[in-house]
Amino acid sequence: MNKQKINEIFRRFKENKPEPKIELHYSNPYELLVAVVLSAQSTDKGVNKVTPKLFEVAGTPEKMINLGEEALKEHIKTIGLFNNKAKNIIALSKVLVEQFAGEVPSDFETLCKLPGVGRKSANVMLNSIWGHKVIAVDTHVFRVSNRIGLCKTTNVEKTEQELMKSIPDVWKDYAHHWLVLHGRYTCKARKPECDKCLISDLCNTKTT
Ligand code: SF4
Repeated sequence: MNKQKINEIFRRFKENKPEPKIELHYSNPYELLVAVVLSAQSTDKGVNKVTPKLFEVAGTPEKMINLGEEALKEHIKTIGLFNNKAKNIIALSKVLVEQFAGEVPSDFETLCKLPGVGRKSANVMLNSIWGHKVIAVDTHVFRVSNRIGLCKTTNVEKTEQELMKSIPDVWKDYAHHWLVLHGRYTCKARKPECDKCLISDLCNTKTT
Protein backbone atom coordinates (compact mmCIF):
# COMPACT_ATOMS: atom_id res chain seq x y z
CA MET A 1 0.00 0.00 0.00
CA ASN A 2 1.38 3.41 -0.89
CA LYS A 3 2.26 6.07 1.69
CA GLN A 4 -0.48 8.43 0.51
CA LYS A 5 -3.17 5.84 1.24
CA ILE A 6 -1.64 4.95 4.60
CA ASN A 7 -1.52 8.61 5.60
CA GLU A 8 -5.15 9.05 4.60
CA ILE A 9 -6.21 6.02 6.68
CA PHE A 10 -4.55 7.37 9.79
CA ARG A 11 -5.70 10.91 9.10
CA ARG A 12 -9.27 9.62 9.23
CA PHE A 13 -8.64 7.56 12.36
CA LYS A 14 -7.24 10.69 13.99
CA GLU A 15 -10.12 12.87 12.86
CA ASN A 16 -12.54 10.34 14.32
CA LYS A 17 -10.66 9.91 17.62
CA PRO A 18 -7.73 12.30 18.07
CA GLU A 19 -6.15 10.83 21.21
CA PRO A 20 -7.29 7.26 21.83
CA LYS A 21 -6.34 5.70 25.14
CA ILE A 22 -5.90 2.12 26.20
CA GLU A 23 -9.19 0.83 27.58
CA LEU A 24 -7.60 -0.95 30.55
CA HIS A 25 -7.91 1.01 33.80
CA TYR A 26 -4.73 1.79 35.78
CA SER A 27 -3.14 4.53 37.82
CA ASN A 28 0.56 3.61 37.72
CA PRO A 29 2.92 1.59 35.46
CA TYR A 30 2.76 -1.46 37.71
CA GLU A 31 -1.04 -1.55 37.60
CA LEU A 32 -0.98 -1.33 33.81
CA LEU A 33 1.55 -4.15 33.66
CA VAL A 34 -0.71 -6.36 35.80
CA ALA A 35 -3.77 -5.40 33.75
CA VAL A 36 -1.93 -6.21 30.50
CA VAL A 37 -0.88 -9.62 31.81
CA LEU A 38 -4.48 -10.28 32.88
CA SER A 39 -5.82 -9.23 29.48
CA ALA A 40 -4.06 -11.95 27.48
CA GLN A 41 -6.79 -13.89 25.71
CA SER A 42 -9.38 -12.04 27.80
CA THR A 43 -11.38 -8.86 27.26
CA ASP A 44 -10.40 -5.47 28.67
CA LYS A 45 -13.94 -5.21 30.04
CA GLY A 46 -13.50 -8.41 32.04
CA VAL A 47 -10.16 -7.20 33.38
CA ASN A 48 -11.59 -3.79 34.32
CA LYS A 49 -14.26 -5.53 36.38
CA VAL A 50 -11.74 -7.12 38.73
CA THR A 51 -8.88 -4.61 38.89
CA PRO A 52 -10.49 -1.79 40.94
CA LYS A 53 -10.82 -4.04 44.00
CA LEU A 54 -7.51 -5.77 43.34
CA PHE A 55 -5.58 -2.50 43.03
CA GLU A 56 -7.19 -1.18 46.21
CA VAL A 57 -5.24 -3.81 48.10
CA ALA A 58 -2.36 -4.58 45.71
CA GLY A 59 -1.40 -1.60 43.54
CA THR A 60 2.34 -2.14 44.03
CA PRO A 61 4.55 -5.22 43.64
CA GLU A 62 5.25 -5.31 47.39
CA LYS A 63 1.54 -5.31 48.22
CA MET A 64 0.88 -7.95 45.55
CA ILE A 65 3.48 -10.25 47.10
CA ASN A 66 1.90 -9.68 50.52
CA LEU A 67 -1.53 -10.47 49.11
CA GLY A 68 -0.20 -13.82 47.90
CA GLU A 69 -1.09 -16.15 45.04
CA GLU A 70 -4.20 -17.74 46.55
CA ALA A 71 -5.86 -14.43 47.45
CA LEU A 72 -4.90 -13.04 44.05
CA LYS A 73 -6.64 -15.99 42.39
CA GLU A 74 -9.82 -15.14 44.29
CA HIS A 75 -9.73 -11.61 42.87
CA ILE A 76 -9.17 -12.70 39.27
CA LYS A 77 -11.05 -16.01 39.10
CA THR A 78 -13.54 -14.67 36.53
CA ILE A 79 -10.70 -14.17 34.03
CA GLY A 80 -9.51 -16.91 31.67
CA LEU A 81 -6.26 -18.72 32.57
CA PHE A 82 -6.38 -17.09 36.01
CA ASN A 83 -4.26 -19.77 37.72
CA ASN A 84 -1.35 -19.22 35.40
CA LYS A 85 -1.79 -15.46 35.38
CA ALA A 86 -1.75 -15.35 39.20
CA LYS A 87 1.48 -17.34 39.22
CA ASN A 88 3.07 -14.98 36.67
CA ILE A 89 1.93 -11.82 38.47
CA ILE A 90 3.40 -12.95 41.78
CA ALA A 91 6.62 -14.05 40.03
CA LEU A 92 7.01 -10.78 38.11
CA SER A 93 6.28 -8.78 41.28
CA LYS A 94 9.12 -10.60 43.03
CA VAL A 95 11.49 -9.83 40.13
CA LEU A 96 10.50 -6.15 40.26
CA VAL A 97 11.12 -5.94 44.01
CA GLU A 98 14.34 -7.97 44.00
CA GLN A 99 15.96 -6.54 40.86
CA PHE A 100 14.34 -3.17 40.09
CA ALA A 101 13.54 -1.63 43.49
CA GLY A 102 9.83 -2.17 42.84
CA GLU A 103 9.84 -0.11 39.62
CA VAL A 104 8.72 -1.33 36.19
CA PRO A 105 11.72 -1.32 33.80
CA SER A 106 11.33 0.83 30.71
CA ASP A 107 13.30 -1.15 28.13
CA PHE A 108 11.91 -3.75 25.78
CA GLU A 109 14.37 -6.59 26.44
CA THR A 110 13.98 -6.43 30.22
CA LEU A 111 10.20 -6.20 30.04
CA CYS A 112 10.10 -9.28 27.78
CA LYS A 113 12.02 -11.29 30.37
CA LEU A 114 9.35 -10.74 33.06
CA PRO A 115 7.07 -13.75 33.65
CA GLY A 116 3.92 -13.54 31.53
CA VAL A 117 5.16 -10.57 29.50
CA GLY A 118 5.70 -11.01 25.75
CA ARG A 119 6.43 -8.67 22.84
CA LYS A 120 2.90 -7.34 22.65
CA SER A 121 2.67 -6.57 26.36
CA ALA A 122 6.13 -4.98 26.41
CA ASN A 123 5.21 -2.75 23.47
CA VAL A 124 1.90 -1.76 25.10
CA MET A 125 3.89 -0.65 28.17
CA LEU A 126 6.48 1.25 26.14
CA ASN A 127 3.82 3.01 24.08
CA SER A 128 1.24 3.76 26.79
CA ILE A 129 3.55 4.64 29.69
CA TRP A 130 6.69 6.00 28.07
CA GLY A 131 5.35 7.24 24.74
CA HIS A 132 7.66 5.15 22.55
CA LYS A 133 6.72 5.03 18.88
CA VAL A 134 6.20 1.27 18.80
CA ILE A 135 3.29 -0.82 17.59
CA ALA A 136 1.99 -3.61 19.81
CA VAL A 137 0.43 -6.30 17.65
CA ASP A 138 -2.43 -8.25 19.16
CA THR A 139 -5.08 -10.31 17.40
CA HIS A 140 -7.03 -7.16 16.36
CA VAL A 141 -4.00 -5.33 14.96
CA PHE A 142 -2.90 -8.47 13.10
CA ARG A 143 -6.31 -9.06 11.53
CA VAL A 144 -7.17 -5.45 10.71
CA SER A 145 -3.75 -4.61 9.24
CA ASN A 146 -3.91 -7.56 6.90
CA ARG A 147 -7.49 -6.87 5.86
CA ILE A 148 -6.82 -3.22 5.14
CA GLY A 149 -3.65 -4.10 3.26
CA LEU A 150 -1.17 -2.32 5.53
CA CYS A 151 0.80 -5.58 5.45
CA LYS A 152 0.58 -9.11 4.17
CA THR A 153 1.78 -11.35 6.97
CA THR A 154 1.07 -14.66 8.65
CA ASN A 155 2.24 -13.96 12.21
CA VAL A 156 2.27 -11.15 14.74
CA GLU A 157 6.03 -10.65 14.85
CA LYS A 158 6.29 -10.17 11.10
CA THR A 159 3.26 -7.85 11.29
CA GLU A 160 5.03 -5.71 13.87
CA GLN A 161 8.13 -5.47 11.63
CA GLU A 162 6.08 -4.58 8.55
CA LEU A 163 3.95 -1.98 10.33
CA MET A 164 7.01 -0.37 11.90
CA LYS A 165 8.39 0.03 8.37
CA SER A 166 5.24 1.08 6.54
CA ILE A 167 3.48 3.39 9.03
CA PRO A 168 5.08 6.86 9.16
CA ASP A 169 6.44 7.85 12.58
CA VAL A 170 3.98 10.68 12.88
CA TRP A 171 1.14 8.17 13.43
CA LYS A 172 2.92 5.75 15.73
CA ASP A 173 1.95 7.36 19.03
CA TYR A 174 -1.60 6.14 18.51
CA ALA A 175 -1.43 3.60 15.62
CA HIS A 176 -1.80 0.60 17.94
CA HIS A 177 -4.86 2.09 19.67
CA TRP A 178 -6.57 3.12 16.44
CA LEU A 179 -6.12 -0.33 14.92
CA VAL A 180 -7.27 -2.09 18.10
CA LEU A 181 -10.38 0.08 18.39
CA HIS A 182 -11.13 -0.37 14.70
CA GLY A 183 -10.88 -4.15 15.13
CA ARG A 184 -12.90 -4.20 18.32
CA TYR A 185 -15.83 -2.06 17.18
CA THR A 186 -15.93 -2.05 13.35
CA CYS A 187 -13.61 -4.51 11.61
CA LYS A 188 -14.74 -7.35 13.86
CA ALA A 189 -13.31 -10.84 13.46
CA ARG A 190 -16.43 -12.68 12.29
CA LYS A 191 -18.48 -9.90 10.77
CA PRO A 192 -16.66 -6.73 9.77
CA GLU A 193 -19.08 -3.81 9.54
CA CYS A 194 -17.81 -2.53 6.22
CA ASP A 195 -20.96 -0.49 5.55
CA LYS A 196 -20.13 1.84 8.45
CA CYS A 197 -16.35 1.71 8.11
CA LEU A 198 -14.69 5.11 7.76
CA ILE A 199 -11.89 3.75 5.58
CA SER A 200 -13.88 1.34 3.39
CA ASP A 201 -12.84 3.12 0.17
CA LEU A 202 -9.17 2.57 1.08
CA CYS A 203 -9.45 -1.06 2.26
CA ASN A 204 -8.25 -4.04 0.25
CA THR A 205 -10.92 -6.45 1.51
CA LYS A 206 -14.14 -4.48 1.86
CA THR A 207 -16.92 -7.08 1.98
CA THR A 208 -20.07 -5.06 1.22
S1 SF4 B 1 -13.88 -2.04 4.88
FE1 SF4 B 1 -14.45 -3.82 6.13
S2 SF4 B 1 -12.67 -5.20 6.05
FE2 SF4 B 1 -11.98 -3.16 5.41
S3 SF4 B 1 -11.25 -2.19 7.30
FE3 SF4 B 1 -13.36 -1.59 7.02
S4 SF4 B 1 -14.53 -3.06 8.24
FE4 SF4 B 1 -12.49 -3.94 7.89
